[in-house]
Amino acid sequence: MKPMETIINKLQREKSTALMERAMAHIPGGVNSPVRAFRGVGGSPVFMRRAAGAWLYDEDGNRYLDYINSWGPMILGHAYAPVMEAMATYASGSNSFGAPTELEIRMAELIKSMAPGIDLIRMVNSGTEACMSALRLARGFTGRNKFIKFSGCYHGHADPFLVNAGSGVATLGIQYVPGVPASVAADTLTAPYNDLDAVTALMHTQGADIACIIVEPVAGNMGCVAPEPGFLEKLRTLCDHYGSVLIFDEVMTGFRLAPGGAQQLYGVTADLVTFGKIIGGGLPVGAFGGRKDIMEHIAPVGKVYQAGTLSGNPIAMAAGFTLLSALKNSPEIYTRLEAHSAQLAAGLQRALEGRGIEHSLNRVGSMMSIFFGPGTIRSFEQATMADTARFGRFFHHLLNHEVYLPPSAFESWFISACIGPEEIAKTIEAVTLFKD
Ligand code: PLP
Repeated sequence: MKPMETIINKLQREKSTALMERAMAHIPGGVNSPVRAFRGVGGSPVFMRRAAGAWLYDEDGNRYLDYINSWGPMILGHAYAPVMEAMATYASGSNSFGAPTELEIRMAELIKSMAPGIDLIRMVNSGTEACMSALRLARGFTGRNKFIKFSGCYHGHADPFLVNAGSGVATLGIQYVPGVPASVAADTLTAPYNDLDAVTALMHTQGADIACIIVEPVAGNMGCVAPEPGFLEKLRTLCDHYGSVLIFDEVMTGFRLAPGGAQQLYGVTADLVTFGKIIGGGLPVGAFGGRKDIMEHIAPVGKVYQAGTLSGNPIAMAAGFTLLSALKNSPEIYTRLEAHSAQLAAGLQRALEGRGIEHSLNRVGSMMSIFFGPGTIRSFEQATMADTARFGRFFHHLLNHEVYLPPSAFESWFISACIGPEEIAKTIEAVTLFKD
């Protein structure tokens, strides 16, 4: 087994290292979002300069095959020409009106035509905002305060969600987030992902007080973990029985796993759905939508207040609209994503098995992750038992072979349509060289 120091920084990354030192003086931890700091894998982050198609290019002139894709939005690859052109066109009109535009209506119509169960939809600026607003709406609609989330799921960084959260919270091993009042966290009930007995027991004892169940229909913030057969269906049944709102957080899965996201893939329709990342085509956008009778509780129709100065920003709408239109108009993209992701996964498994490296690979469509160690991973509790130190060494080995994975064992990889046979072969070849 190689110590981390001999693995890190085989490629020249002097400029990135210097930039990190400079960033540390001005930005907490040198980064504007914690996972980017590489704390989950050790070493110093790579500073990027530009990207095109499947490739990222760093400040030192190195290139990397990208398996993060801005955590999802770059599903058609970086600098996708129609999106870049749409942004430029709209920017020449105005970059913000603070007044309604026709483009917002077209965006709502487009999303409704793709995702099931959306009668009304409201644009916001991030996935965090979308989830926090959906929770408030569920509470306002039901008149109840408590809600259920699943450990290892991440729904953004609003106070009520930072209980047993995944993503960066898990990467940094933070159990209790200072600043989240105990009184707020007390209304957040958690159950292990895929554990129907646990969630059923919570609903049986407290269902009348539960405003909503919020779930990542495919978890992507504990690594990638698929819902077991019947899991989402049972959540639907429980919510119907107790009059609670079922919220699917499709910030990662929306428009990625299918044009209609996980709702379409699994045939389960939620009451409210949250979106993010991909619907801005790489610009900061989120949205929440769903049943009319619930959504009409949002201001100005109802009293559940929610607002945003830059919500529905024309350039962001133009980018998102163009990307979603491309996905809607070319369903073969999903077939190709599935075929290439399956090919990649099979090759990676063969390469790791060939090296005698115990692992499990979880994949749903173009989301996947590898956990090192024995057994299968179907919950956060199991994900935390995986060998994260080995993941760190694997990460740096691949980085040195021009393959850029999420810098944490608790994040999903996102595969873009620009990953084809050549890129897959390069990635698998890099894995066959992994000596640990
Ligand atoms: N929900 C899920 C499932 C996410 O993965 C994320 C971000 O990773 C969020 C919500 C929060 O989105 P944002 O980072 O845009 O605030």
